[in-house]
Amino acid sequence: MLSEFDLIHRYFSGWESYSDGVLLGVGDDCALLKPAAGTVLAVSTDTMVAGVHFFADTAAAIIGYRALAVSVSDLAAMGAAPMAFTLSLTLPNADEIWLEAFSRGLRLAAAAFGISLVGGDTTRGPLTIGVQVIGTNPSGESLTRRGAKPEQLICVSGSLGDAGAGLRQADSLMDRSRLSLEMLRQAPDSLLARFLCPTPRLALGQLLRHYASACIDISDGLVADLAHIMKASGVAAIVESDRLPLSAALRQFNPPDITRLALAAGDDYELCFTIAASRWQALQADENFIRLSASVPVTVVGKVVAGSGVVVTGVTNAQGDCLQGDCLQGECLAPVTGYQHFAPGDINDPDQ
Ligand code: ADP
Ligand code: MG
Repeated sequence: MLSEFDLIHRYFSGWESYSDGVLLGVGDDCALLKPAAGTVLAVSTDTMVAGVHFFADTAAAIIGYRALAVSVSDLAAMGAAPMAFTLSLTLPNADEIWLEAFSRGLRLAAAAFGISLVGGDTTRGPLTIGVQVIGTNPSGESLTRRGAKPEQLICVSGSLGDAGAGLRQADSLMDRSRLSLEMLRQAPDSLLARFLCPTPRLALGQLLRHYASACIDISDGLVADLAHIMKASGVAAIVESDRLPLSAALRQFNPPDITRLALAAGDDYELCFTIAASRWQALQADENFIRLSASVPVTVVGKVVAGSGVVVTGVTNAQGDCLQGDCLQGECLAPVTGYQHFAPGDINDPDQ
């Protein structure tokens, strides 16, 4: 039987450092980190419970990879550069085959995103994975949810709805333990890969520090997450549903509720940001953006207006009836005044 210390030693220590500033990693009472002068730390924690946040029977390498990927996405949303992470692992038993694969997937993700494992905690109990990520931002340059202003554009990276469709595919799979992380990573645009091994938009987030007025990563769905920006910024959003970026893979899968998936399914871990029109022009002329957007395009999906909440225009239901102007907050499709007649205060805000 593997002792706690053997387990940590065998699977979670001695990894190479994938980032700068780690003075001391796994093995002591604390890790020691030295952020570069003039930077601030960005810190975020995510807890993932088996059966609640992920399918427990998924191949362990994928569970490890995904746990870090979704946590690192929060750094991308703030424009932060990854530095270090800690792992709180609660395990029902010390299954070495599972641990070996989990550790391999986690390490692949650490290498892919340039973030170093510097410590953690290991306990016995129902399978739960806690990841705390630490990144750095030049002081005063962090992207937040505040800062969106009327007349600014609303943009999203990549495509939306893929992970929601991928979740359906994963849900109906007979044997998720046979999924291969390596195969998924070779087909990163497949719906299953979009759900099971998402790619945090780190380079885009860091570039957006110089351009965007507010930013968030899309974990709960475009409408729900955009609503957070709107609330924090004290403004409203109009999203045009016919502008939503839908991938070829999603169109081919052709779910009956494709627009709803793109608006509300979540798990895509794309970035949603607001940007002044003049800054959008400048961003599109930026060499780094041109290079990045060749593989991860950015699409304007709407604009910021005065008011509160999120209005989606041009939503059609399965029968093809236009529900123009309906307000889609999470699961609710409560009718509000249409886009043409839109005025501040006409928008439902469930929090008021
Ligand atoms: P302490 O009792 O001082 O809190 P632990 O015995 O829990 O220390 O852990 C010993 C070392 O191993 C510490 O450096 C800790 O950060 C690290 N560690 C424990 N669990 C993990 C884990 N799951 N992943 C990475 N490092 C871990
Ligand atoms: Mg100690």
